[in-house]
Amino acid sequence: MTHLTRQELQQTHCFINGAWMGAGQQLPVHNPATGQLIARVPRCDGTQARTAIEAAHAAGTGWAATPAGQRARLLRRWFELIVAHTEELAQILTEEMGKPLAEARAEIGYGAAYVEWFAEEARRIHGDVIESGRPGSTFVVVKRPVGVVAAITPWNFPCAMLARKLAPALAAGCTVVAKPAEQTPLSALALARLAELAGVPAGVINVVTGDPVAIGAQLCANPLVRKISFTGSTHVGKLLIRQSADTVKRLSMELGGNAPFIVFDDADLDLAVTGAMHSKFRNAGQTCVCANRIYVQAGVYDRFLEKFVARVRALTVGNGLEAVDIGPLIDARAVAKAALHVRDAVDQGARVLVGGGAHALGGNFFAPTVLADVRADMLITREETFGPVAPVIRFESESEVLAQSNDSDFGLAGYFYSADPARVARVAQALECGMVGINTGLISSEVAPFGGIKQSGYGREGSHYGIDDYLSIKSLCHGDL
Ligand code: ADP
Repeated sequence: MTHLTRQELQQTHCFINGAWMGAGQQLPVHNPATGQLIARVPRCDGTQARTAIEAAHAAGTGWAATPAGQRARLLRRWFELIVAHTEELAQILTEEMGKPLAEARAEIGYGAAYVEWFAEEARRIHGDVIESGRPGSTFVVVKRPVGVVAAITPWNFPCAMLARKLAPALAAGCTVVAKPAEQTPLSALALARLAELAGVPAGVINVVTGDPVAIGAQLCANPLVRKISFTGSTHVGKLLIRQSADTVKRLSMELGGNAPFIVFDDADLDLAVTGAMHSKFRNAGQTCVCANRIYVQAGVYDRFLEKFVARVRALTVGNGLEAVDIGPLIDARAVAKAALHVRDAVDQGARVLVGGGAHALGGNFFAPTVLADVRADMLITREETFGPVAPVIRFESESEVLAQSNDSDFGLAGYFYSADPARVARVAQALECGMVGINTGLISSEVAPFGGIKQSGYGREGSHYGIDDYLSIKSLCHGDL
C-alpha cells in the first residue's frame, strides 16, 4: 500500500474533477494554538463551485451505475488508507484545529469507522415488492441515489464530519461537492487525496475551499445539486434551508444543541463525574453534543461538585501537539463567547469554583471552568457555549428537571445518570432529543443514528438509517404484460 508523507498529504489546492487546482485568491489557515500561518488554500467562489457541481453531475451517471460491490471495495480501500495514515492526518488536524493529538487520532478512527460501515452498507440497499390489491398488477419499490450532494462541514470535527457524509453518499451512488469550514480545509483535502489514491473516479468527490457565502449560494441555487447535507450552526442551517427552497432540495441538517446532563440522587456519582468530564470537556467543549447544562439533584449536589471540581482542576491545557487534555479554542470569537457566558452567569449570582476566564497561556486558551448555582434564566443555560465551561444547576424533583431540560428550542443530545430502572425508562422516553446517553457521556458511534429534533435539525447520520438520506424511493407499478 502506498504511504504518503505528511507533506504529500497536506494539499493546498482544491480538488475538482480529479485535478488539483488553485484559484486567484488565497485563504490563510492558522494554527489556533500559536496563531502561526500553516498554509494557504484556494479562496474559491461561486465560479469554482459551479465547475465542481458540473463535474460531480457528469460523473454521477457512471458512479450510480457502478456495481455496489465495486463501490464497496473502493470505500474499503479508502478506509484502509485513512487508517494507515492516522498519524499524518492527526498531525494535520491538530495543527489546523487545535484539539489534543490523542483526540485527533481518535477522530481519524471515528471518521474511518463511518467509511468502513458504509462500505458494508453499500451492498445492502434493498427495495420492496408490494401486492397492489388489484388483479394483475404489482408494485416494485426501488431506491435510487438522489444525485449530486453538497456536503458543508464544520471545523470542530474536520475529518469525521466529512467522512460521515461522503461515505454514505458514495455508498448510495451519489457524487459529492464538499465545502469544508474555512478554518480547517486541510483535513478535507487530505481525505480527498486518499480517496484519489484509493481509486475513486474523477468527479465523484470534489472539494472546494474558500468563501462560504459565495460557494454556499451556488450550492443552494444550482438545480444540479439535489441534496445538501449540512453540519454547523442553526443560524447558517436556516439560511441554507431558505436558500434551497427555490430548487426544492433534499436537506439533512445537523445543527446546534443545548444538551442537558442530569445526575439523580440515586446515580453512581463517580460514573456521573467521569461522564460529565467526557461529555463537557472533550474537544474543549466544542462539540454539538457537549453537556451544556448540568443538573444535579439536591441530595448529591455538594458531593458531585467536590468530585467534579477536583477532576477539572487536574486538566492540563496547552498546545494540542504536546500531551495535554485541553487545547485552544478555535478562535478569539469562541473565547469571547465563553467569557460572556461566564460573566453573565456570575453577574446574576453564579459562583466560580475553578477557572472563570481566559487561561494564563493567553491567545485562544480558556481555563476549564465550573460554575455552581447556575439558574435557568442565565445566558449559559439558554445558548450553546461551545467552550470548556460547565454550568451546574441544583434541582429537587424529576418532574422539575424534565420540564427544565425540555424547555429549549434545541433537541440534539441529552444525558442522565440513575440506577433506578423505572426512572431510566421514564426519563429516556421523556427527554425531547434525538440521542440520549443513559449512564454514559459518550453516545457517538458509526453503528447508531446521529441527529436531532426541534431546531437541532433533521436527518440521521451513521447506522443503517444513515444511507436513507442519500436515496430516493421510486415505485414501479407493473401491470399485465
Ligand atoms: P460555526 O459557527 O461553528 O463556525 P457555521 O455554521 O458558521 O458554524 O459553519 C459551518 C459550516 O458552514 C462551515 O463550513 C462554514 O464555512 C459554512 N458556512 C458559513 N456560512 C455559510 C453560508 N452563508 N453558506 C454556506 N455555508 C456557510
